Amino acid sequence: MSILKIAVQKSGRLSEKSLELLKECGIKLSNGDRKLKTAAANFPIEVLFLRDDDIPQYVEQGVAHIGILGENEVWEKDKNVAVIENLGFAGCKMSLAIPKDEVYTDITYFNKKKIATSYPKILQQFFDEQQIEVEIEAIGGSVEIAPGIGLADGIFDIVSTGSTLLMNGLKEVAVVKNSSAVLIANKNLPEVQQQILDKLLFRIKSVNAANTNKYILLNAPNTAIKAISDMLPGMKSPTILPLAETGWSSIHSVVKEDEFWTVIDQLKALGAQGILVIPIEKMIA
Ligand code: ATP
Ligand code: MG
Repeated sequence: MSILKIAVQKSGRLSEKSLELLKECGIKLSNGDRKLKTAAANFPIEVLFLRDDDIPQYVEQGVAHIGILGENEVWEKDKNVAVIENLGFAGCKMSLAIPKDEVYTDITYFNKKKIATSYPKILQQFFDEQQIEVEIEAIGGSVEIAPGIGLADGIFDIVSTGSTLLMNGLKEVAVVKNSSAVLIANKNLPEVQQQILDKLLFRIKSVNAANTNKYILLNAPNTAIKAISDMLPGMKSPTILPLAETGWSSIHSVVKEDEFWTVIDQLKALGAQGILVIPIEKMIA
């Protein structure tokens, strides 16, 4: 059948953002209350709602053609799937933590220690690379209570703000990996599904480019145009329009969100005035 099946998390930290991304790609899902699956009204796609742990396996088997999940689960499940795009949301660290009163030296602190985690594979690989011998206690959840109840000396878990660690008397001592949401795909997609995926990917890239860039307009004396244009490359080069006032021009371009504040300071120093910064809805390269 010519439909692309995408697996997303049924409920949890990824679900809302995953559906929002599809929406920003112009895909209208006919049904908001999450059943097992739902089809889009205007794009050949069907959404399957699953636990994130199961997504790598379903995509490997081709039950779902593609899926959205945290890269941490992709690493841990280690299935034969392709990571095809970074989606940039649900960012988190995967860190080692120990009781807060312990004195931490360096990673060799963990030699012969017992560590509780829901990510035994990632952790084992890390300590193998470090050539440090540890005992890994694999548990399903509530990892942060393990040291307090005497199950382990430390933990390896997902950390975003660190407040859960704090509440459990732990401190973060080393970041092992950084993870965020990715799009994965089955490695042997049929031709039709591959074509639908290419269309979807094109939209996702446009949405992500728009989200990480801003449209910028400013007025500048003509003498500063060269310096400003060099700073603001835009998609090809900036648009420059003469103002009614002689000797002045309006310059339009695109800046990266994370370079934005530095750029603004430099523009002001070059004599730019009336700077407007506007969100971009979609950005097609
Ligand atoms: P499921 O029922 O689908 O198995 P879950 O309990 O495994 O859900 P969530 O807690 O919803 O999963 O987290 C999903 C993903 O969100 C994580 O695998 C991780 O990639 C990401 N994430 C981002 N920040 C955090 C955080 N602070 N804690 C946990 N996960 C986070
Ligand atoms: Mg899970």
